[in-house]
Amino acid sequence: MTQTIADNLQIIRDEIKKLATAAGRDAGAVRLIAVSKTKPVEDVQAAYAAGQRDFGENYPQELKDKYPVLPEDIRWHFIGHLQTNKVKYIAPFVAVIHTVDSVRLIEEIEKQAAKYDRIIDCLIQVHISGEETKFGALPEEVGDLLKYAAGCPHVRMTGLMGMAALTEDTELIQRQFAGLQALRDQWQQEYPLLTELSMGMSSDMAEAIAEGATWVRVGSAIFGQRSYLNR
Ligand SMILES: *Cc1c(COP(=O)(O)O)cnc(C)c1O
Repeated sequence: MTQTIADNLQIIRDEIKKLATAAGRDAGAVRLIAVSKTKPVEDVQAAYAAGQRDFGENYPQELKDKYPVLPEDIRWHFIGHLQTNKVKYIAPFVAVIHTVDSVRLIEEIEKQAAKYDRIIDCLIQVHISGEETKFGALPEEVGDLLKYAAGCPHVRMTGLMGMAALTEDTELIQRQFAGLQALRDQWQQEYPLLTELSMGMSSDMAEAIAEGATWVRVGSAIFGQRSYLNR
């Protein structure tokens, strides 16, 4: 018997609760984003039928195409690299943008959100992995981005997002997540809305939850491996 998406979801939800409790946190303190990039709408519908409402997507065009054919009450999280000229595709409906890393991008989100009379929740993606290939602001740039966003009435900064290094070294992963948590704690003193920490994926969910993740972004453990063409 093969495991269904609903089975996988249940396993991940149980695992999240277990990890949160083991870390001395509330069982409900960590919420799950089901990352459906490259997966067909049928897979999203299967997860939706199993009660999932928060979904993550990486590509503006793909999200723009999926949005109108899926239920209205899905909260769409944008978690991929976002080019300023693509903001307009997702601004009418996106719930949270996790990957804000420049003033230019904030400026464009402000402009597009204003056009639709919306306030969009945003997280600053911080470069924590030390790897060349990952996007994100440097830790020392976070203050300037928060300051700029504070002057944008249609952008609400609610936290930080990060991706740890792709490594078997779980202590390194945990240190990187701990660093992001410390950075969030530091800036939360000045910006009390900064409550969210989006960190942890299928492979490093445990380390992220131990270090305070409030959102985990899980794809392959729910929907299966993606085609290598699409990462
Ligand atoms: C693809 C992706 C995920 C999910 O990764 P899995 O390893 O499939 O769980 C999470 N976060 C980001 C930013 C991603 O691009």
